[in-house]
Amino acid sequence: MPSAIGHTLVGISIGGVCYQLLKNTSWKKLIVLSLICANAPDIDVLFHHLNLDHIEFLSHRNGFFHSVFFCVIAGFIFSFSFYKKSRLLLFLYFSLVCFSHLLFDSMTKGIGVSFLYPLVKTEYIFPFAPLMPAGFNTTEFGKSGVILKELLYIWIPCMIIITFSFFKRKS
Ligand SMILES: [Zn+2]
Repeated sequence: MPSAIGHTLVGISIGGVCYQLLKNTSWKKLIVLSLICANAPDIDVLFHHLNLDHIEFLSHRNGFFHSVFFCVIAGFIFSFSFYKKSRLLLFLYFSLVCFSHLLFDSMTKGIGVSFLYPLVKTEYIFPFAPLMPAGFNTTEFGKSGVILKELLYIWIPCMIIITFSFFKRKS
């Protein structure tokens, strides 16, 4: 899995790019909800720390919270709880933001994601998987290879997208 920073930057980038399409929302609200939504599937890390991840449904990346079905639920919660207008469009948007998490997780070397859990329990790895597992603690994330790959494939591209979208919003 990429780090929370990586998922956060991806969420903000998607918000920045899609903001023009979602005119019924404020920039700040969309960005804050997007970065939370982009990290939502990793709620299952909590079960890992509670030693509950031996329960398949709760297990990290192979359980329900890293499935497309959770993305649909997250999309529903974020759109219908926080908005009164354009809910269908926002439902699709937040489902997509949540799905970005699964996609980037599946781009991690050697570790797949069970996208279709519980219907199909197969772990899928994206054909292009250059990222290294960031792990559950800062020690693993501190390894230079992890940070360098994230910088190259997530942080720098996202910072460029965020910068451009910010100035486009201002113009
Ligand atoms: Zn994850």
